Amino acid sequence: MIDTHTHIYLREDFPEDDAGGVPGAIDRALAAGVSHLVFPCVALDTVEELLSAHHRYKDVTSVGVGLHPTEVGADWRAELREILDRYSDEHPVAVGEVGIDLYHDSTWRSRQMEAFGEQVQLALERRLPVIIHCREGLDETLDVLRQFRRTGTPRLLFHSFTYGPDEACRILEEHEAFFGINGVVTFKNAATLRDAVRHIGIERIVLETDAPWLAPTPYRGRRNESSYLREICSKVAEVTELDFSEAERITDRNARRILALEQE
Ligand SMILES: [Zn+2]
Repeated sequence: MIDTHTHIYLREDFPEDDAGGVPGAIDRALAAGVSHLVFPCVALDTVEELLSAHHRYKDVTSVGVGLHPTEVGADWRAELREILDRYSDEHPVAVGEVGIDLYHDSTWRSRQMEAFGEQVQLALERRLPVIIHCREGLDETLDVLRQFRRTGTPRLLFHSFTYGPDEACRILEEHEAFFGINGVVTFKNAATLRDAVRHIGIERIVLETDAPWLAPTPYRGRRNESSYLREICSKVAEVTELDFSEAERITDRNARRILALEQE
């Protein structure tokens, strides 16, 4: 299994004195059958811990580069430039996580759209896919992507997809996107998302935990970690009426394809 989106590199959430800290969480994931982990970048102040976890586990981890929409402040250009500087010797597999998040505050809609557009452009230039974080902002996300209709759009991965079949349809009408499905799919009240998973189909789905957030059932409400990915794979298999091993094989293949990961 490939965890295409995990933040278990965060030392604040995985402190050293708690079950082995960050390395402990990565080791547990590997022991639980996770073969590869992708660390998306959020902001400058966590780049150091992201890259240090990546360097320690180079063979089994990959990194994204970018500025998360809720981190887009007045000086976002300078922050993004500095993040890119820190990545000068790295080989990110994606630009992300980037996008639109108007859940807490819609004040900065236009600034988020501008920062997102600029990072989609960066992905195009570097021939990388984009890991999209989209919360309460599907209209804005699709608007920004439409600016690239003429130049071509990079490969798109809508991470933490928790909308329903209608929204999946709207995205698929315009893009051959992939969708990251996480622990929310195991929640009792997520029937609409399970409908969306059936509608999207296994060929366009990749697995993720988004740890430390959104722990799947039966760990719901606790700190999430990548070793729980099995619960998500198992629910996706059930919803798409596949064996666990088939769901694992196909979602792994999808992840390798969209993120251009090496074959293992
Ligand atoms: Zn994330």
